[in-house]
Amino acid sequence: MIHYNEIKENTKNTTLVVVSKQQPLEKIQTYYDLDERIFAENRAQELKQKATLLPKDIQWHFIGHLQRNKVKDVIPYVSCIQSLDSIRLAKEINKECKKLNKIMPCLVEFHFAKEDTNKTGIDPKDAITFIEAIKDLEHIQLVGMMTMGPHTDNEEEIRNTFKAANELFKTLQEKYNFQILSMGMSSDYKLAIENGSTMVRIGSKLFKD
Ligand SMILES: *Cc1c(COP(=O)(O)O)cnc(C)c1O
Repeated sequence: MIHYNEIKENTKNTTLVVVSKQQPLEKIQTYYDLDERIFAENRAQELKQKATLLPKDIQWHFIGHLQRNKVKDVIPYVSCIQSLDSIRLAKEINKECKKLNKIMPCLVEFHFAKEDTNKTGIDPKDAITFIEAIKDLEHIQLVGMMTMGPHTDNEEEIRNTFKAANELFKTLQEKYNFQILSMGMSSDYKLAIENGSTMVRIGSKLFKD
């Protein structure tokens, strides 16, 4: 809890997503009691359990790589899927949402940090092709994009990645009315906000101690 006030102060003009993966219910409830309402999980099973047991007005975001066979398990519980990273996944989400008569807000996940081995996310150069391929799916609402900074202590490198993401965001904002740029985690959220982030996803810095 020791960093909460500082994080709130620094995210005054940004949406704070509390990343609650691997955290116990009572710790999550503590942040709910402090009026946080947006929480994020990266595993279908864990999300379902927590969503069933915690207050119903929590908005759950899905932030992990989502396998197509898990889509139907998460759809009933989430208010946003931040990790849309393939056309096949988009079609599956669309299909399952249609059954439930639901329209799912989604963020396209882009991969900017070239050196990282963990390559989930769309290559930014394919952004337009990707969006054009899925934008007519009626049960998906594309509301923005998500990205992760590179795994490094080099601030310049992180800043350059965030700047590039913000450039793409501005283009997509104009062309497709994107509204959310989800970038920044515990270690780099300040740099992300300085470079245009509208939504940060913070876990360890909130839950440590
Ligand atoms: C775990 C995770 C976060 C939060 O990371 P912290 O460093 O714990 O703040 C944010 N985004 C994604 C996609 C994650 O998987």
